[in-house]
Amino acid sequence: MNTNLSLNHTSTTPLQSAQWIKRGKQVLLNAYSSFPVVLEKGNGCYLEDIEGKKYLDFMAGVAVNSLGHHNVDYIQAIQTQLDTLGHCSNLYWNKPAIELAEILTEQSGMAKAFFCNSGTEAMETTIKLARKFGKNNGRSEIITIEGSFHGRTYGALSATAQKKYHAGFEPMLPGFTNVPLNDFAAMQNAIDQQTCAIIVEPIQGEGGIHVADKKYLEQLRDLCTEKQIMLILDEVQCGMGRTGQLFAYQDMGITPDVVALAKGLGGGFPIGAVLVAENMADIFKPGDHGCTFGGNPLACSAAIAVLHTLLKPEMMPHVIKMAKELHNGLLSLQQKHKQIIDVRGKGLMQAIELTEPSRPIIELCLKDGLLLAGAGQNSIRFVPPLIINEQEIQAGLNIIDLVLSEQS
Ligand code: PLP
Repeated sequence: MNTNLSLNHTSTTPLQSAQWIKRGKQVLLNAYSSFPVVLEKGNGCYLEDIEGKKYLDFMAGVAVNSLGHHNVDYIQAIQTQLDTLGHCSNLYWNKPAIELAEILTEQSGMAKAFFCNSGTEAMETTIKLARKFGKNNGRSEIITIEGSFHGRTYGALSATAQKKYHAGFEPMLPGFTNVPLNDFAAMQNAIDQQTCAIIVEPIQGEGGIHVADKKYLEQLRDLCTEKQIMLILDEVQCGMGRTGQLFAYQDMGITPDVVALAKGLGGGFPIGAVLVAENMADIFKPGDHGCTFGGNPLACSAAIAVLHTLLKPEMMPHVIKMAKELHNGLLSLQQKHKQIIDVRGKGLMQAIELTEPSRPIIELCLKDGLLLAGAGQNSIRFVPPLIINEQEIQAGLNIIDLVLSEQS
């Protein structure tokens, strides 16, 4: 694939795409406000639509395609597994699930794993773990953080502390309280005899890229240990190498009791995971929880292939180097464009906050061949494939520069 960026402004949706989108609208539920682009194939950090227009990918399927697109080793691993055993259910054991659990537990310091298909299922699993953990002494309350996002199924949605996601779907599940991020005193005040767990994203993703302070997480860790409260980290978006560590908590000075993963874990193949520390590893008994596709050999082979790349010695230093490149580039843009009022984030999970809604800017960048995602009302999120290089980062920043210059 030719990876040269073509800056072909397309003001109307081309015919072929328009026809596909029309067909899509007839048969797909109107749950997404998708951009008018039909993507067909990808290679590395570039995607191509059905008209052959190329896009530089700065959002990686919302922090999913950690290895970019069309990674040959990844494809080979899935094909080989499909040739061998595609699915067998949890009525039996399979080798990829055991191997994946071995890698994840060894790397995380956790004791055991549970597999599912998505981030929201991983979070449902953590909530059930927390409630069963609290049951022994009559505790069921869970504290979550304002601005958080944990998924769309009812447990995860109830844990999500953003009213806009609840609107129209009330009543939520009872037993969730919310406190502001990085406010330890508020957390201390909120905890009572009923509290069984705290759920925190080390970096809030959908909420607009807000990083939890290291000191705050350390204080939470101590408090949870002292009061025998389960500390759950939602690393669905910020985990799997995105911060330059395999797990975001690894340079935040703490070890959680439970950590939820998904998105980047499968590199595009749907898989979620929950890792549980030794002292909490026997909460579930057979029959307590389950998932037909959980630990599916295909999904686990995909995740093993992703981890194989992420665990290469050069990979995390590469993420840290590219993160610096991206962050400095965004700071330079901030100096030039008064519409940018903040640059924040960690690793390859960053955001700029604008003085105006981000959607029109994202749409203009899309026309110029750059894929971006919003986060919150006025922020643009940068979660590119972890394999991105300097030239690609610069190319993307140039497009944003151009668009913001035209807007000012
Ligand atoms: N948790 C976090 C932190 C997320 O960012 C998301 C999705 O954006 C989820 C949970 C839910 O994941 P999924 O969309 O795979 O259900």
